[in-house]
Amino acid sequence: MRRRILILGGTTEARELAEQLAGRADLDVKVSLAGRTAQIVPQPVPLRVGGFGGADGLAQYLRDEGIHALIDATHPFAALISQNAVQAVLAAGVPFLALRRPEWTPRDGDRWTSVLGVDEAIDTLGAGARRVFLALGRKETHAFERAPQHFYLVRSVDPVEPPLRVPDAVYVLERGPFGMEPDRKLLLEHRINGVICRNSGGNAAYAKIEAARELGLPVILLRRPELPSAPTAGSVSEAIAWLAHLDASGAERGE
Ligand code: NAP
Repeated sequence: MRRRILILGGTTEARELAEQLAGRADLDVKVSLAGRTAQIVPQPVPLRVGGFGGADGLAQYLRDEGIHALIDATHPFAALISQNAVQAVLAAGVPFLALRRPEWTPRDGDRWTSVLGVDEAIDTLGAGARRVFLALGRKETHAFERAPQHFYLVRSVDPVEPPLRVPDAVYVLERGPFGMEPDRKLLLEHRINGVICRNSGGNAAYAKIEAARELGLPVILLRRPELPSAPTAGSVSEAIAWLAHLDASGAERGE
């Protein structure tokens, strides 16, 4: 019997995992996206889009669809869906793995200030006018209206709507993965003297961190939200190994 695997996606890792599992004759893999971006990135396996209706809705979906294993490969700042996933698998009795990329850690030359959230990031910028590169979710970006003295270079996948009510802002629409050289150029072109971003981990968004290091710029990094404790893999290959182990133990039980 083909085992049904649901991947909660929205990240590069989710897509890579789906790519590596797509050709497997023993698996029936589906990716779930929240549907936040206007243009959905094509996935190598069938897709479902939209919320489930909380933990109960997800548990119901897992039962209705006969899902054999759930892998939460959502972004580390998407804390609610990760919480819901843990509750749902407990209720539905489905094996579960969280695929969580390790956090970035500072290297020689990095000038980081780690903050709890957007408010602390704004306070850390201080009163004097700065030229700031904002690489945050659209949800978090509007908070910066309370510090209108700064220039903002805002990068996002979809337009920030409405635009920030600040006198000086430039918007760049771009989806990762990003490269170190283009990011370095971007920072230079806009004479940026401070970067604000999330400690997302992974490779796709690391270029700005490298570019800031190269240019000696300070970075204000938002710490990750607390995520529920769960069996965790740090990479796509670890997640594939976990699935192989799951298959082996299922076979031993004669499933
Ligand atoms: P969130 O706050 O943790 O979740 C809010 C709600 O969105 C969830 O309760 C769920 O709705 C729905 N949802 C989230 N991810 C889903 C998925 N993969 N499939 C189906 N429904 C999902 O999430 P978020 O921060 O808004 O992020 C939404 C998506 O964007 C995630 O898939 C995440 O991987 C991706 N993303 C987020 C960030 C970020 O910084 N937050 C960055 C890059 C990509 P119901 O309760 O109705 O089920």
